[in-house]
Amino acid sequence: MDHATGLSFVALDGPTLSFAAVCLAALLGSFLISAWLQQRSIRALAWWGTAYFIGASSIALWAAPAPVVQLPSELPQALMFVACGMLWNGVRLFHGRRLWPGPMFVGAIVWLVVCQAPGMQEGSAARIAFGAIVVSAYTFFIAYELWSERRKSLFSRTAAIVVPCVHAAIFLMPLVMRAILPDAFTNEWRTVLAVESIIYAIGTAFVMLLLVKDHHVHFYRLAATTDHLTGLFNRRAFVDAANAMYARQGARGDAVTLLMFDLDKFKSINDRFGHGVGDSALKVFAKVASTSIRATDVLGRLGGEEFAAIIPEETAGAIQVAERLRLAFQAAGLTIDGHEIGATVSIGVVTSYAPVPNLDALLLRADEALYAAKNGGRNRHHIAPDEPGCEQARQAAAARAAEANSGIIKRRLAARRARKADAVLAT
Ligand code: GH3
Ligand code: MG
Ligand code: MG
Repeated sequence: MDHATGLSFVALDGPTLSFAAVCLAALLGSFLISAWLQQRSIRALAWWGTAYFIGASSIALWAAPAPVVQLPSELPQALMFVACGMLWNGVRLFHGRRLWPGPMFVGAIVWLVVCQAPGMQEGSAARIAFGAIVVSAYTFFIAYELWSERRKSLFSRTAAIVVPCVHAAIFLMPLVMRAILPDAFTNEWRTVLAVESIIYAIGTAFVMLLLVKDHHVHFYRLAATTDHLTGLFNRRAFVDAANAMYARQGARGDAVTLLMFDLDKFKSINDRFGHGVGDSALKVFAKVASTSIRATDVLGRLGGEEFAAIIPEETAGAIQVAERLRLAFQAAGLTIDGHEIGATVSIGVVTSYAPVPNLDALLLRADEALYAAKNGGRNRHHIAPDEPGCEQARQAAAARAAEANSGIIKRRLAARRARKADAVLAT
């Protein structure tokens, strides 16, 4: 894509280099288009593939000997800028942003107009400089789009930023070189640019495919760990995350509390109002539950109308969470989809200080507590009996917490005394 700056492959290294560039761009274009044909939902691939084809035509037009094709000399570069604009718009589309067809053509239009100005004839320093600025601007726009996307993996993100930035920096180098060392702007330097452009074309296609790969990994990971109806963790993901929290807390001798939820008389909601309203009730519960707990707590749907949360709290703190959630759902479940339903939830609460996690045993105890809550009249929580050694573990954890707190207080007091002493010295 090098000649976008006004540097011709032909003038530099002869037809071989330009022929290689045309073949390469067309090959990468075909590759991206065939990737799009296999996954039509990712329309950005079609944009990127088309951009490479336009890039290939631009190089071909540039390199074609004059008697074969007689076109204004600025046209091939204009096409190349359209290709850059398409790459940029492809990235926007990929990230779910709006297409910007206008700015896609702005570079080409400005280029065509500016090339008519005096001193902008083919091969002139001003024309080369202007071409470098336009291609660098598009490259930085692409880099910006990639940078502002939050969800990317670190590897893709780094590659996506580094490749365009290195390229744009190298294209801008001639401007600096011309200003500082006019004699250093030689043919060797131009050859470096040409080769770098080919590598860049490959690198860019690689980054595009990396983005698509990341997108798939994210998509399938989400599908494998998410409950389709509620968007919460599914049972497997919940068990994994809960085990991790349980092990972390247990290793420190701190508590975890498992809350197990079961919607009350849910079968009757389905029977009276239909399965669709039942599904809505499940979604309402998921929403209420996610807003009633902290982002660091783990919440999931175990199956049917059963949910669970594991939180790094001992029983007293967990009961506050359970009651907050129960009352919030009682309010939200009064009317669902316009039907007076009066949905409620029962909750089994179980706390553990076990240093070695045993989530199955915890789930079993929570289930028994839940059963007791149902038997006790529903729409309530029930606390499971303490596990053996629970009281000692609770006291030890409380003593550690008090010690940590007093440490913090002591440090604060010491800092305050030091500030006062400083103030006295200063007066
Ligand atoms: P209890 O208060 O004792 O928990 O009674 P219940 O009716 O809630 O319990 P039961 O286990 O008898 O019924 C659970 C019902 O949940 C039966 C099943 O059809 C329904 N169910 C399970 N999964 C879904 C779902 O994804 N959507 C809907 N709408 N219903 C579901
Ligand atoms: Mg149930
Ligand atoms: Mg139920």
